[in-house]
Amino acid sequence: MAGLYIHFPFCKQACHYCNFYFSTNPKNQNEILHSIKVELKLRKNELTDSIESIYFGGGSPSLIKPKVVEEIIKFISSHYQLAASVETTLEVNPDDVSKEYLEGLRTAGINRVSLGIQSFHDKELKMMNRAHNLNQALQSIRWISELFDNFSVDLIYGIPYSSLASWEDNILKALSFNPPHISTYALTVEPKTVLAHQIEKNTLDLLDEELVKDQYDLLLKKLEEKGYENYEFSNFGKPGFHSVNNSNYWNGKPYLGIGPAAHSFDGNKKRSWNVSNNSLYLKSIKEGKLNNETELLSQVDLYNEYVMTGLRTIWGISKEKVTDVFGTHFSDYLEKQANKYLITNELYWDGDLLKITKKAKFLSDGIASDLFMLKA
Ligand code: SF4
Repeated sequence: MAGLYIHFPFCKQACHYCNFYFSTNPKNQNEILHSIKVELKLRKNELTDSIESIYFGGGSPSLIKPKVVEEIIKFISSHYQLAASVETTLEVNPDDVSKEYLEGLRTAGINRVSLGIQSFHDKELKMMNRAHNLNQALQSIRWISELFDNFSVDLIYGIPYSSLASWEDNILKALSFNPPHISTYALTVEPKTVLAHQIEKNTLDLLDEELVKDQYDLLLKKLEEKGYENYEFSNFGKPGFHSVNNSNYWNGKPYLGIGPAAHSFDGNKKRSWNVSNNSLYLKSIKEGKLNNETELLSQVDLYNEYVMTGLRTIWGISKEKVTDVFGTHFSDYLEKQANKYLITNELYWDGDLLKITKKAKFLSDGIASDLFMLKA
């Protein structure tokens, strides 16, 4: 099984923390949408497996008209092999949608919506330069919960000026709409963003790391109480509602990324990414070719990725798999490096699987990097 990702690189305005590829100039939107179809056709032989997830991300794909979304989905189904059941997700910004728009998406074939709420506090939304306000957040989540059985809500923690109480309020407000899936991200400072500039100029202070950890731990507690499974560090799903799109990434399945800046993986060791520039993308597609870069992952890269994913997900790291795929040199190394974390109760063996304990989850990336094999 495989996944298909469509990147729509336009946003109304730039959020202060965001370093995804997008343009705030709406010029060329139609050309990009046309080129996405051309690229889909150009690359149709790259995916040999059936597609079980189609994901419209960005950018802000909720700027695409439902009729156009429908055309793209139809185009995909006439050029690619689809699985019997396909999760078809579109990322939605609260300020882009009306009830009619969401109904249109449903008619177009979208069966899952991922809603970028981020916060239910106007002060926090303003600070991040989100284009929506509290009322739009509440209205959009209400409509979506009425229209879609499957939807996800994005929230951000670690926001400057936030507290444990304001974060708890965000969690409880989201929970009051009973979303089947919640994704949460710690606000991080990415280079060349307004946020990075503010931190550099000392006009804004980041939240204390201990408070960020407390916010994450509170999230774990609150969502666990409500029956969500924390199947990946940032992702929580009710039983049967793990994101197929996200799970495919973490399970190393092949995916094809279409559109400017979209990434692809062949399920083996080849990764590629399209040029992050709308004009250059359009030019190359017009010439009937791709403007992308490719890298071949080494055994060490693949082992390190497996370790990182294993510690971040409920699936853990299988020692047997490490031995079979990478050899005893890697599994012996894994065991040796893991020992000190077994003593501190941060890692544990669940049969053949090395997993992270709840108390150490917040530190999983740091612990994973200590289990990495250094490149020669
Ligand atoms: S809407 Fe999404 S993609 Fe666009 S700037 Fe904000 S976070 Fe980035």
